[in-house]
Amino acid sequence: MRFKDKVAIVTGSARGIGSTIALKLAKEGANVVITDVVLNATESVTSEIEKLGSRYLVIKADVSNADEVNTLVKQTIAEFGKIDVLVNNAGITRDTLLLRMREEDWDAVLRVNLKGTFQCTQAVAKVMVKQRFGKIINIASVVGLMGNAGQANYAASKAGIIGFTKSVAKELASRGITVNAVAPGYIETEMTQKLSETVKENFLKVIPLARPGQPEDVANVVAFLASSEADYITGQVIQVDGGMLM
Ligand code: NAD
Repeated sequence: MRFKDKVAIVTGSARGIGSTIALKLAKEGANVVITDVVLNATESVTSEIEKLGSRYLVIKADVSNADEVNTLVKQTIAEFGKIDVLVNNAGITRDTLLLRMREEDWDAVLRVNLKGTFQCTQAVAKVMVKQRFGKIINIASVVGLMGNAGQANYAASKAGIIGFTKSVAKELASRGITVNAVAPGYIETEMTQKLSETVKENFLKVIPLARPGQPEDVANVVAFLASSEADYITGQVIQVDGGMLM
């Protein structure tokens, strides 16, 4: 029960990696805030959390909307009185080659992935600075480290998250707040379901562990970084990619 009496916000936690992270933290005792721009898939997560006996709050919020993010933080404080962990997980893709990329494909991905991470981090950091405690974990991607044809917007947003993580880690370290990033490789979720069979097969060819990752593989590392076992780790990017990018 590493997170007994701790409070965690996980963005984009209605499904996929986010819901698995929220569940993992709840299993180890955390009270969790499930927040997403679309809430119709949250019931499977909340019924699991209920069975575990942890408390939870479901809040509809678009991470790219500053007012909604501020309300999310206010409602969390009103319910739980503090925020120990923030996981910036919400993310989208709008894949296309550079020459075909529309301005709105670029703007949408940067707005949700990078600006969303900034806005949630800033709003929660104001609380964490006063507490003199906090763990912030940003979900980046190996694509932000290696680039990927057809994902210039997504890769730029994830590389941006890595630079942001390191800068904020330096700013907040003296306040007892750690800020780290997790860079998943190819993880089986609805986001990657839409990839073609050829793209999936090509991924598998370059993964030494020869299997796609599961959301649990990412959640385990997030939980470690959110725990006191990682107190001396900040500004790091941990790849969870089956060895894809070593
Ligand atoms: P997913 O599409 O299954 O889940 C993403 C969630 O984010 C959805 O519930 C969605 O509604 C929510 N979301 C989207 N826009 C939002 C917004 N503006 N505000 C709040 N919530 C919003 O994807 P996933 O595979 O679970 O990905 C989770 C994170 O992991 C993303 O940041 C993604 O970029 C990253 N990632 C995934 C993989 C992978 O292979 N699946 C690899 C590397 C990184």
